[in-house]
Amino acid sequence: MALIVHKYGGTSMGSVERIKNVAKRVAKWHKAGHKMVVVPSAMSGETNRLLGLAKEISANPDPRELDAIAATGEQVSVGLLAMALKEAGVDAVSYAGWQVPIKTDSAFTKARISEIDDKRVMADLNAGRVVVITGFQGIDPNGNVTTLGRGGSDTSAVAVAAALKADECLIYTDVDGVYTTDPRVVDEARRLDKVTFEEMLEMASLGSKVLQIRSVEFAGKYQVKTRVLSSLTDPMIALDEEARSGTLITFEEDEQMEKAIISGIAFQRDEAKITVRGVPDRPGIAYQILGPIADANIDVDMIIQNLSVEGKTDFTFTVPRGDYQRAMTLLQSDVQGHIGAAEVIGDPKVSKVSIVGVGMRSHVGIASKAFRTLSEEGINIQLISTSEIKISVLIDEKYMELAVRALHKAFELDQA
Ligand code: ADP
Ligand code: ASP
Ligand code: MG
Repeated sequence: MALIVHKYGGTSMGSVERIKNVAKRVAKWHKAGHKMVVVPSAMSGETNRLLGLAKEISANPDPRELDAIAATGEQVSVGLLAMALKEAGVDAVSYAGWQVPIKTDSAFTKARISEIDDKRVMADLNAGRVVVITGFQGIDPNGNVTTLGRGGSDTSAVAVAAALKADECLIYTDVDGVYTTDPRVVDEARRLDKVTFEEMLEMASLGSKVLQIRSVEFAGKYQVKTRVLSSLTDPMIALDEEARSGTLITFEEDEQMEKAIISGIAFQRDEAKITVRGVPDRPGIAYQILGPIADANIDVDMIIQNLSVEGKTDFTFTVPRGDYQRAMTLLQSDVQGHIGAAEVIGDPKVSKVSIVGVGMRSHVGIASKAFRTLSEEGINIQLISTSEIKISVLIDEKYMELAVRALHKAFELDQA
């Protein structure tokens, strides 16, 4: 008998029929003798609908109220799922984040979990009940409802699994595991039986939305055994077969993994590039440009500063496309004149494509192969950034899918 956490995403919870199937699947695990905690997301489309309503009322909505609204999607899900479990003959109880409580900081719309109280949940589990806990939300020290950022139910599930010292956290989604790249973009994408924690962390941070990055961080920090698998199989398939399916995130590399130089390709479509031109090259310039951007809560990703020519340099960086206008306005109105830069120019239609693999550590020539592949497709590379196990390039948005497909083929990711 084990303590197991299941997480079901929006598509998996997308209709009454699907919720009944989730209940059947969870009931099967419960009847096999496991203590079960289930963390569902809002029904698919619901969080977008709620945030859309908010935007119709206010162009610049108060983040506290946004979270109060967005969190309701998951509250509906837990109530429905607990009811469906009872209909399936299993005693179950639902909790919103604040009832557990799942404590977070006060960074509305991107709060971080600080602590999870396990008492109430453990008491229910010991009494034989299935516990259904809202994904995506928590409560801050002032009693405000918070949310964890888009895709945050993954993080709720892994954090709950860590707090309860669960034996395994199973992330059920609308694909049957982690693939070499998004299977919706590349038909030849191949499912991985295993992926190392480090690779998963890079892939999540570089745009693979199959897992929210913070969930992978939690899995690593607390060594939570985490598996990504399909919720769309027959809910009554044999439990041991189901338990072996999908993709396991491992904390050890084996030989097989090192043989695969590249494990996956991630991409982030909605990037924007900003260049501050003709900046006087003196100490403190990076701080003077990026300080106000950070103060405005805008994430900066790739950064490059050119060598100076006649005491002047160009400074380029990327931000999420949604923050592009705000960043441009800020730089043009407050920063440019202040630091004496010639001009601020930008391109809001760029995308980032990244190749990821622990095998890169022990192989040379990966970068040149990637660059050659892109050049053969006539794709211009605008920025490059690398780490020990990844290479990212910034390119024109219109070539993103072509680049992903070409790299997938060049590194033979379609072949086992
Ligand atoms: P959920 O609602 O279950 O949380 P998400 O839509 O957040 O599901 O994440 C699953 C989606 O992630 C898949 O449908 C797939 O399109 C996308 N995805 C992106 N990269 C990958 C990848 N490398 N492997 C699998 N799925 C990926
Ligand atoms: N419902 C939230 C979202 O759409 C959280 C999640 O699905 O993980 O972002
Ligand atoms: Mg998700």
